[in-house]
Amino acid sequence: MAMRLHEYQAKRIFSKHGIRVPKGEIAETPEKTREIAQKLGGRVVLKAQVLVGGRGKAGGIKKAESPDEAEKIASQLLGSMIKGHKVEKVLVEEALDIKKEYYVGYIIDKNRRTPAIIFSKIGGMDIEEVAAKHPEEIHRIYFDPLWGLQDYQVRTALFKAGFSKEEYSEMFRIIKTLYEIAFKYEAELAEINPLVITSNGFVAADARLNVDDNALYRHPELESLRDATEVDDLEREARLKGLNYVRLSGEIGIIANGAGLAMTTMDLINIMGGKPANFLDTGGGLADPTKMKMCLEHVIKDENVKVVFINIFAEITRCEKVAEGIILALEETNRKIPLVIKLVGTNEELGKKMLREYAERSNAEIHFVDSVEEGARKAVELSKEV
Ligand code: GDP
Ligand code: MN
Repeated sequence: MAMRLHEYQAKRIFSKHGIRVPKGEIAETPEKTREIAQKLGGRVVLKAQVLVGGRGKAGGIKKAESPDEAEKIASQLLGSMIKGHKVEKVLVEEALDIKKEYYVGYIIDKNRRTPAIIFSKIGGMDIEEVAAKHPEEIHRIYFDPLWGLQDYQVRTALFKAGFSKEEYSEMFRIIKTLYEIAFKYEAELAEINPLVITSNGFVAADARLNVDDNALYRHPELESLRDATEVDDLEREARLKGLNYVRLSGEIGIIANGAGLAMTTMDLINIMGGKPANFLDTGGGLADPTKMKMCLEHVIKDENVKVVFINIFAEITRCEKVAEGIILALEETNRKIPLVIKLVGTNEELGKKMLREYAERSNAEIHFVDSVEEGARKAVELSKEV
């Protein structure tokens, strides 16, 4: 997966490498917004720092003509939701006088299995939209990751695209720099949309940088940015606990051992008309009951969860250890949540017997199922009951 940086974080990195960005600072309060606007001369743009695209259309980008207005807008923007994300910070920037908007991006083309630079004289809208409406306006440079992006490739592509002399040298430099940044940080995506032309030249009005999180250990300086990029407390907590957990917006909690099994479970729940609340792959280590306990406890911390589907296929793992972990978690919680359990494999009968006995003496609601389909159906049904 990728760790997505906030716009302001990406801009700091772009700027350090010589790509010009608008003057600006980050604010977490309306008062601070006012202060920054004052410093920048009054006319500013407020940009909600949320990790979604299309903030402009969603109301996350606002212009203010004065520090007063900036403060007022910030008080509305801060704490509000943009496409399901809470705005905790706004980037306050000098307003730009935009003459043209271009697009420049570094991507990995998954079909061709190669990195590529994409650029266009149409910027400011989704590049997918440009590709659909004006395919002839999209220019691509594919290059060998071992050779790297060659100067002649950039020159040829810019020449073909018909850039003017003045534009050409700046575009050349920006493309090369974007590539350097992407390469250095092992990015999956580095994007400037729009790259704007103002009377003072080229400026990156927006910035995106998504880095491969399997490579993060090689970039300790990015690790420190991580806290601010994690909007979800449960996901942050899961990472610290070493759990492979992604939070979703539904009400059916999912626990499975193996990413494939967890995804299959999610798919079936979707097909049956339910909504998964999360993805959780327990990984190995289920021989220790505290692992399952931790997983179940974590999933039911999410208050949206109304039912949990536990789908375990035990080979090395033994079912009685899994059962023990589930019981430990249920004993400690005061939430009453029905469980749907598919427990198959080594010592299956023993595990189920332990759970049945526990359910009887504690009044816990546990439904045993024999297939994933049956489990998904049951979980969906239960999620709609409550
Ligand atoms: P996005 O919608 O999340 O991609 O946010 P952007 O930073 O790309 O902003 C959306 C649009 O706001 C841009 O495409 C610009 O056309 C427009 N915009 C207008 N004035 C300004 C300005 O002064 N600064 C910036 N950054 N954007 C501006
Ligand atoms: Mn943008």
